[in-house]
Amino acid sequence: MTATNPISAANARYARSEQAFEQARGLMPGGVSSPVRAFKAVGRSPLFIREGKGCKVTDLDGNVYVDYVGGYGPLILGHAHDAVVEAVSKAASRGMGYGMSTQGEIDLARLVTAALPSVERVRFVNSGTEATMSAIRLARAATGRTKIIKCTGCYHGHSDGLLVEAGSGATTLGTPSSPGIPEAITSQTVLVPYNDLPGMETAFNNFRGQIAGILIEPIAGNMGTVPPAAHYLAGLRALCDKHGALLIFDEVMTGFRVAYGGAQERYGIRPDLTCLGKIVGGGMPCAAYGGRADLMRQISPEGPVYQAGTLSGNPLAMAAGSATLTILRDSKPYPQLEKTAAALEAGMLTAAKKAGVPLVAQRVGSMVTFFLTDKPVTNYQQALRCNTKAYAAFFGVMLDKGVVLPPSQFETWFVSVTHDQSALDQTFSAAEAALAAAAKCS
Ligand SMILES: *Cc1c(COP(=O)(O)O)cnc(C)c1O
Repeated sequence: MTATNPISAANARYARSEQAFEQARGLMPGGVSSPVRAFKAVGRSPLFIREGKGCKVTDLDGNVYVDYVGGYGPLILGHAHDAVVEAVSKAASRGMGYGMSTQGEIDLARLVTAALPSVERVRFVNSGTEATMSAIRLARAATGRTKIIKCTGCYHGHSDGLLVEAGSGATTLGTPSSPGIPEAITSQTVLVPYNDLPGMETAFNNFRGQIAGILIEPIAGNMGTVPPAAHYLAGLRALCDKHGALLIFDEVMTGFRVAYGGAQERYGIRPDLTCLGKIVGGGMPCAAYGGRADLMRQISPEGPVYQAGTLSGNPLAMAAGSATLTILRDSKPYPQLEKTAAALEAGMLTAAKKAGVPLVAQRVGSMVTFFLTDKPVTNYQQALRCNTKAYAAFFGVMLDKGVVLPPSQFETWFVSVTHDQSALDQTFSAAEAALAAAAKCS
């Protein structure tokens, strides 16, 4: 050990990001455009990124990191994939959007509907938030009912009715999880723990004839990765059918990620409506919702359910989405992603053993979370038992050693097709030290 002060050494390493953060804080709330980017949960100053290529990103200070944030999911092909960049550049050279229709929408709609047979018609929007907000509006209109069931710990964007948390008790009406949201709105959302099928049944019985649908992440990714229990999704399908409610899969994260046809392909369940985002836009602001033709026909202008967007179907976003999906469809990278992510999982577990840290790996395909706990996590309440202080220590050492992770225990790491053995090796060697630091927090 040398006598250098680790604090000032760290500051020097991140000086430009620190300066940028200082400026940003005077201009934007918390200095960021989305809260998680502030790195608050891990007690670090946020990175400002200059560029990315493949599985690496470079910050303003020139530090290069192996990246598992992956733009929070879209970048399954890695950063700045040549074909995607070329498609976007070409589209941009023809104009940024016209407020009129383009061939690009048809191309991407064809790819989406071919990938997900349950999506017979699709509407493009700009964010996952918009997709889920619009899907529940349609579910309410189509069923003539008002209540939506959502699982505690699942995230469906920040629209009022979905930004809810559980009150006390297992199956409850939601309460606002943010100021500014009327109880009148969140009281229309019923909360049930994830993976709790009897809880779902209770909810349907408690609100007989009032449930428009279940909105769910078929694989939870926003409390960390939590796979559905065996028969859970089939059970939800059966409950919705029995009670005349719609099953809405929020595949914003899982679509084109855990299989080309998403979680619905992987588990063989056909939802009535599906929300897509992230990969569908290839890194551009783009999302979509779609499903049964008889339901989607009720969307304006074909039907009365209003939903619109100035930038929806933007040609640059369509180009990025089409390029990404075409590559995924033709190159079939899913077995390779599975292999890489399994190797990541195995290596991390080995490193944890060496460091003497309890670590639970939960993975579906190229989505994985390493929970600092000794028991499997099947719902949000269990996720909250993880040692978040230890995660913060782990995150910090990984960062200092050139590996950037999602800055929270309750996020999913994303493996891309560009993560190679050398990236994994760098990850494992950093993890040995980082998990040793985490061990000191238990
Ligand atoms: C990211 C995400 C959203 C929100 O999408 P935005 O584009 O951030 O609005 C919704 N649902 C799920 C499952 C997500 O992972």
